[in-house]
Amino acid sequence: MIRPYTIDCLHIPGVVHGFFDRSGGVSLPPADSLNLAHGEDGEEVVSENRRRVLAFFGGDMDLVTLRQVHGNRVICVGAGDGRRDGLADSHAPEADALCTDIPGKLLMILTADCQAILFADPVKKVVAAAHAGWRGSVQNIAAATVETMVNRYACRPEDIRAGIGPSLGPCCAEFVNWKKELPSAFASFRSGGDLFDFWAITEKQLNDAGLKPDHISSLNACTRCDMRWFSYRREKNTGRLGAVIGLL
Ligand SMILES: [Zn+2]
Repeated sequence: MIRPYTIDCLHIPGVVHGFFDRSGGVSLPPADSLNLAHGEDGEEVVSENRRRVLAFFGGDMDLVTLRQVHGNRVICVGAGDGRRDGLADSHAPEADALCTDIPGKLLMILTADCQAILFADPVKKVVAAAHAGWRGSVQNIAAATVETMVNRYACRPEDIRAGIGPSLGPCCAEFVNWKKELPSAFASFRSGGDLFDFWAITEKQLNDAGLKPDHISSLNACTRCDMRWFSYRREKNTGRLGAVIGLL
């Protein structure tokens, strides 16, 4: 039985969301077992895993995915987007965030150490999901997603809720080349040595984008420290976790 972790500030009537751990799927090691990324793992087992996610939410939604490319492009989801059969979406665009006001679209971000950030505006009934690895953090995809919610759907930043999923914590986000790779503004988020607190970086970016501090929350779950999650840094060859949000 699959069971998603949830974040309190995203518990909103008419909104469903969840961060799935690696249990309850049919993939074999090393991607055992709820690997949600079509790729090296078998097409049929990943499709079954995706169908289990859809079934958890009642089976009456279209799963909308991206070809994530570590950029800051945000896609607005249309009525014809997504699939409900679990198969890979060959038309999925290259981008790193999804946004919609259309009910029945389950937006999914795939990660194994990167952050999935889920967004919801209970006033305008808009949801979004973003993929933020360190490159996405450098390009501030969190703010790009908020900007799209504001500009395209007339959301007010102070109404938007955001939740940060399982990802490398301040204990494990080590960047030995940080002086080359990360902007100087990130230096104040060092958590010792070459370690960085990317949860705090995202919270700051969301706060700077106009979200209220009490509308921003994190599961504070480090993927590398805890075997419940897929972790690229720990396992290299592994599966991908799914984080999803949608409007009913
Ligand atoms: Zn850790």
